[in-house]
Amino acid sequence: MNKKILVSRISAQLKDFLFSFVSEENCRICQRVLLARGQLLQPAMGFKVEAKPAIVHRWVNDIPEYSRVICANCWESLCTSAPLIGFYPHENDQSFAIVSGAPYKGELRQLIHRLKYDGDRLLAPDLAAIMLNGWRMGSIFLNQKQPILVPVPLHWRRSMERGFNQAELLASEASKVLDIPVIKGALKRRRATTPQQSLEKSERFTNVSEAFHGDPGKLVGRAVVIVDDVCTSGATLAECVREVIRCGATQVVALTVARTVLRKDRAAGDDESATKEKLS
Ligand SMILES: [Zn+2]
Repeated sequence: MNKKILVSRISAQLKDFLFSFVSEENCRICQRVLLARGQLLQPAMGFKVEAKPAIVHRWVNDIPEYSRVICANCWESLCTSAPLIGFYPHENDQSFAIVSGAPYKGELRQLIHRLKYDGDRLLAPDLAAIMLNGWRMGSIFLNQKQPILVPVPLHWRRSMERGFNQAELLASEASKVLDIPVIKGALKRRRATTPQQSLEKSERFTNVSEAFHGDPGKLVGRAVVIVDDVCTSGATLAECVREVIRCGATQVVALTVARTVLRKDRAAGDDESATKEKLS
């Protein structure tokens, strides 16, 4: 990582820290002011704040209260769909399930971009809550009592540039709610791959072929939940599943915040191909 990136990252984090004492948090969708960090100082300084929003929708009712940056109204508009499930072919006529909290479109897609490309890590708990919308459905594929969460790894260079791995943040937040451990280092990326969004579907499987390396010591005999932010073609997740099974995992399910929906289901202007996606 060059010096310029390092300096800009440190200064961004310092600014974020200092601002936490003097500024309010806004809802990431409607910009309404929320009571959040610095809440003791805000009233004293004359900021108008409102109560921290509660999660209101039925499918997230049982998720404990913790820091979030989306207001209750916007949660209502986000939480309108049922979780999505797909079965992806695997080796030896087997298939595995990918369960996603909601379709990858509209405001949810913008929130995921904001986390990944703008570094808004405060969104991680909220996005994890959406991901956990699919957990009940995903958990039925695991009959082992103590599964583990394994985030899809980034190549070290991209991880250094971004400063974090969004899949690790999401897994970490899910871990707090589910009380299931995150096993870091169970899966590593052997090589940098071309960002999947820039490739045709047929190229995506070749691109990630043998891109991951698992640690059998951490995976053998385990029920594994592979965690990622978005499922598009399923190629990356399928490759992760292949590797964890090769390392001795007995059961595998993939869990993501969002999944791309069929073109015909997309709202006008929400077509991925019409919008230049940033690189994952
Ligand atoms: Zn809002």
